[in-house]
Amino acid sequence: MANDLAHAAKELGIKYFLISYVDLFGALRAKLVPAQAIGGMQKAGAGFAGFATWLDMSPADADLFAVPDADSLIQLPWKPEVGWLASDLVMNDELVRQAPRNVLKSTMLGAESIGYQMKTGVECEFFLTTPDGTKISDASDDATKPCYDQSALMRRYEVIKEICDGMLTLGWGPYQNDHEDANGQFEMNWDFDDALVTADRHVFFKYMARSIAEKHGLRATFMPKPFIDLTGSGCHMHTSLWSGDTNLFEDEDGELGVSDLCYNFIGGLIHSADALCAFTNPTVNSYKRINAPRTVSGATWAPNTVTYTGNNRTHMIRIPDAGRLELRLPDGAANPYLAPAAVLAAGLDGIQNQRDPGKRLDINMYTDGHKVRGAKKLPLNLLDALRALEKSSVLKNALGAPVVEGFLKLKHEEWNAYSRHLTQWERDNTLDI
Ligand code: GLU
Ligand code: MG
Ligand code: MG
Repeated sequence: MANDLAHAAKELGIKYFLISYVDLFGALRAKLVPAQAIGGMQKAGAGFAGFATWLDMSPADADLFAVPDADSLIQLPWKPEVGWLASDLVMNDELVRQAPRNVLKSTMLGAESIGYQMKTGVECEFFLTTPDGTKISDASDDATKPCYDQSALMRRYEVIKEICDGMLTLGWGPYQNDHEDANGQFEMNWDFDDALVTADRHVFFKYMARSIAEKHGLRATFMPKPFIDLTGSGCHMHTSLWSGDTNLFEDEDGELGVSDLCYNFIGGLIHSADALCAFTNPTVNSYKRINAPRTVSGATWAPNTVTYTGNNRTHMIRIPDAGRLELRLPDGAANPYLAPAAVLAAGLDGIQNQRDPGKRLDINMYTDGHKVRGAKKLPLNLLDALRALEKSSVLKNALGAPVVEGFLKLKHEEWNAYSRHLTQWERDNTLDI
């Protein structure tokens, strides 16, 4: 990898660098720096006013510096003269403790100090809509069960192909693309990797999908539930812990081919599920995905209970095959760094406290969930998740108070803004009462 960015610029023909970071709300921020100036920037970082982004800072704070991580360099496949860089945030010569990428790195370092390396793979679902985002972009994509629809997929061949070609060029190991269960919805999969590598790619994938869709006169959105009657957009996270080349979640003698360590990790996710939702399902809209009734296609495919299972898509955690778990909770709004950091924190707590995940349920949770006594419901709205996070010493201790408190403060402001908003539904149902 390119350690000296000025040198890399010459070798790779890069004219500009995007020195970027993701804030607490997952928004991607950047400065565009000409290659001639990258030498100084690589050391000192690019300056930003922290309060101008979602980082829980004050307008009186000193400048924030985004110090690029040379290992994260990605040349924009559709504009190779631009090199994208993920950064670590520094203020007054100290790492910013609430910066999402710093939080993931420090949580992973903590895990590594006790022998665990987390690997993840994310399944990003998204809609292709009209540029104003109000409708899906393909009026002919109107089947009741549109999942894997070959014609609807191929009508968007030019966009999907360009994104997939990008991943091929970047060496991410993309292996399949499909039309998902909602009209206008797609998913593209690439290989799993170390959690930090996946998180950087996740950020870049969203940017790439949006940019290429825009080039084709469309809009790509990862909003969890953009159309109330259609299946929402999840961001399932396949997770495993490793020691070198050994997958510690794999055990051929274990139930479903996974180890006790994995079951304890699942126990930790179940124990902290409500608080975890604040990071995996971080918007008001997120709860319209996980608590939705049946969609027109017949199922939401999103979880609504804190339960785990084998190869069954109606629960929060699925063990699809040996050696990994699929957390089906996260959605398209999940912060690519904070979500895996919170998952790791909750899972490690499960390992350290040998948390029992309880009984595996192999039933259709949508139709038969009510028959299971004690099957806990996921939070019904963002406020419930924020309140659970407030009480979670597990997440606060592992991720640090600065990120949890900063996130809570900003998200409560978002909830309050939503609560002050008067909807048409209220008028329709209350005006004549
Ligand atoms: N779109 C579904 C969700 O919101 C997931 C569909 C699938 O299993 O891929 O989680
Ligand atoms: Mg999917
Ligand atoms: Mg999946």
